[in-house]
Amino acid sequence: MSSQIISEKLKRILPNKSIFIGLFLLMITLTFGAIVALANENMVVVEADILNVRYGPGLSHDVLTQIEEDERLFLLGEENKWYKVRLSDDQVGWVASWLVDSNETLQENQQFAVVTGEAVNIRQFATSDSDIIGMVYKNTELQVLYQDGAWYQVLYMGQVAWIHGDYIETRATPSSTEEASNQEIPTDSTVVVIGNAPSTNIRSQASMDGEVIHTAAPAERFEYIESVGNWFHIKIDNNRTGYVADSVATLETREEETSAPADDDLTGSQYARSVSNISEATIVIDAGHGGYDSGAISRDESILEKDIALSTALLLRDRLQDAGTNVVLSRSNDSFVSLDSRVQTAHNNQADLFISLHYDAIEVANSMSGTTTYYYTDANLDLANTVNRYLANMGPLNNNGVRHGNYYVLRTNRQPAILLELGYMNSSTDIQHIHTKAYQSAVVESVYQALREYFGQ
Ligand SMILES: [Zn+2]
Repeated sequence: MSSQIISEKLKRILPNKSIFIGLFLLMITLTFGAIVALANENMVVVEADILNVRYGPGLSHDVLTQIEEDERLFLLGEENKWYKVRLSDDQVGWVASWLVDSNETLQENQQFAVVTGEAVNIRQFATSDSDIIGMVYKNTELQVLYQDGAWYQVLYMGQVAWIHGDYIETRATPSSTEEASNQEIPTDSTVVVIGNAPSTNIRSQASMDGEVIHTAAPAERFEYIESVGNWFHIKIDNNRTGYVADSVATLETREEETSAPADDDLTGSQYARSVSNISEATIVIDAGHGGYDSGAISRDESILEKDIALSTALLLRDRLQDAGTNVVLSRSNDSFVSLDSRVQTAHNNQADLFISLHYDAIEVANSMSGTTTYYYTDANLDLANTVNRYLANMGPLNNNGVRHGNYYVLRTNRQPAILLELGYMNSSTDIQHIHTKAYQSAVVESVYQALREYFGQ
């Protein structure tokens, strides 16, 4: 699984400066106290030895972090047998409900805040001098986690944040089932576009002293949150925000944006195939992970997903080049490449196919085995079915079929794109095969034959 995934766009309104300053002055006059009350007491306890916490409710979402047995998690919601939880470090993620013990009744006891102020600051801590991490507008609904004196801890854009009680009303049920953070209806959308440096540091604070928490690729785009001095506060992904110096990035505002610009771009017309033979095709092979991102790790820790994804990619490159295909690798060595730059490689080369290679891992070792083919837009379903048919016939591993996968490299790709999970790193059956050249060569031959068929030979 790839290490980062960026959720659907949450677009927001630029802060109105005068309101912003007014509220700020109001807020610094307010006092605060210790945590005195829990608004909710829904906790779950981890039952697996090691539990993956994922970015979304399902195995197709990437792993955010791992936690250990008996750790207690704060329950925020449920969807499709997955629990949305808050971790002790205030990160928010999803865990499989069957791997945790919950004695509590979900959705009971939950409290929601409806914003009554016109525009209200959302802060990092329950103090009026802590960092402002965003702003919410009248009638926005937020899920309440704690009450701390006059302050309410709420879930804001996937993270834990604070809002002052003077500007909200609380109620016991949400006005709709939609997530609160999705209810801020934007009038326009502002993005921060990174400059042309090979890599640009994104820091934890609006200062050169801030820790580097992310490295951005040239021309990478991020959702803009606010300006802090000479820094842009940006959303790195669904769970993290950071700061980039305004000297190395620019602001871009798009007006009258449609509701789903990225997806609207992915219409069938862009998939028109001009090649009728695999030798005419340009194919981008994307070896998952790399550099400090090792991907999944075998149980004995001797095999890293990034290494076998790369060796498989290199074998596939050789096979395709022998057939005359123009092959471009998103990475050709053990280096970290951002997800966006992988997609840009496909766009820049106007690839006829982007194929991402990964090896899988599952919450409970040995509970899954085999290969899986992922696609995102229906336009790529034929391609996915074709490749998967060959993989399923290959052996020796099971095949888990074709699945819809909300992966960044698929979702944002304008070129035909699929992602293959070629076996489980933590299956004792699969691991015997997947690191061998014999297995990887079999994969390569299957994929090659499938692509020959797909490109019409
Ligand atoms: Zn992976």
